[in-house]
Amino acid sequence: MGEGLARSVLGMDRGEITALVSEAGEPAYRAKQIMDAVYRQRVESLAEISTLPQEFRERLAASGVSVGAARIEKKFSSVDGTVRYLIGFGDGQSVETVWMPEGDGGEAGDGSDAGVEAESGLSTSGAEARFQIPASDAGMEGLLHPPQNRVRPGRSTICISSQVGCAVDCQFCLTALLGVKRNLTAGEIVGQVCAVLKDQQVSPPEDRINLVFMGMGEPFLNYENFIKASRLLVGGVGIAERRMTVSTAGIVPRIHDFGEEKIRPKLAISLNAPNDELRMRLMPLNKKWNLEMLMAAARDFPLRTREWITFEYVLLGGENDLPENAREVAELLRGLRCKVNLIALNPGPGIEFTTPSADRVTEFQNILRGAGIPAFVRRPRGRDIYAACGQLKRTVEVATLPELQFQAISPLAPEG
Ligand code: SF4
Repeated sequence: MGEGLARSVLGMDRGEITALVSEAGEPAYRAKQIMDAVYRQRVESLAEISTLPQEFRERLAASGVSVGAARIEKKFSSVDGTVRYLIGFGDGQSVETVWMPEGDGGEAGDGSDAGVEAESGLSTSGAEARFQIPASDAGMEGLLHPPQNRVRPGRSTICISSQVGCAVDCQFCLTALLGVKRNLTAGEIVGQVCAVLKDQQVSPPEDRINLVFMGMGEPFLNYENFIKASRLLVGGVGIAERRMTVSTAGIVPRIHDFGEEKIRPKLAISLNAPNDELRMRLMPLNKKWNLEMLMAAARDFPLRTREWITFEYVLLGGENDLPENAREVAELLRGLRCKVNLIALNPGPGIEFTTPSADRVTEFQNILRGAGIPAFVRRPRGRDIYAACGQLKRTVEVATLPELQFQAISPLAPEG
């Protein structure tokens, strides 16, 4: 085993951990012990892996191997139960990860299937047989020891980041103001989930956890790490792929690649405009991949049984929220197996657009529904702590938004 080369176990798949174990001259079953400890029990140090001999743990540590757990640097709690985490990594960079607990219908339209079932009757049960069940579900229950006598949350969602910042430059998004600093590794993506699960004292599959890749960054611009993380979240952490959704701004070649993956989350496309002129203004990447290319990729996308594509549409007052825009969206999506999540703009400093009125949002929704397209209004979550959609900007850095000011912003009534 090589000396001094820093390596994190978090982010390694079964094959890589098996190679690590074999290199150390240990029996192959040690790989499963390490996998279980890191992904299922979510240990933060090698010293905690009690199934390994002490001598082996010390040898691993001496050779530069560590768990590589993500570190929660700050935590902001919203009046609606949402928690925004600032999660730090070894090089001093950080991202945001958001926990949205069950209990108020906020999951409807968050990209998970939870609220959709309730609201529309679009059951996913038929799809379950076609989706990969976490390989390690069987026989794992005894490994975890969640606190006894606590009420398990019915369904919760974790929104995770894939990059530090984002290069896509959507004009209504606070993250875009950061630019992109770097890609996250697969271990850093999975590490966010492990850190939040541990902090919230929940554990899949016993607790129903949905994951959305909708935090900071464009996952399809960090494709290899994103897809490896997805596989680890399924096979290692134990979250079924049907409970995960990835959102892309429209990286068309990667939508094609994604459709070929054997294990993959569901697909969401951030649409936000029904014609090229408007979309180019709101999302400059439309110059490279226009709506014709995007919609062709969506139509070609190999949907599984009873799966559908989610289109997200951020409504900007007076910009893209007019009745004729809704009619254009209906026309654009005609014939696609899809649903639309409508998100009234979440305000933030440096964003010039306005939040549309509740009436305008309802009218937009009704036009889509009238055209036969399932459309849901996404309730804003954690707006008071800058945790809502498009607000993730590591707000602790923003001088105009001191932490104390969060307390002064009143909670928002549900719009849907
Ligand atoms: S909306 Fe998503 S893709 Fe667009 S700039 Fe923000 S984080 Fe990037």
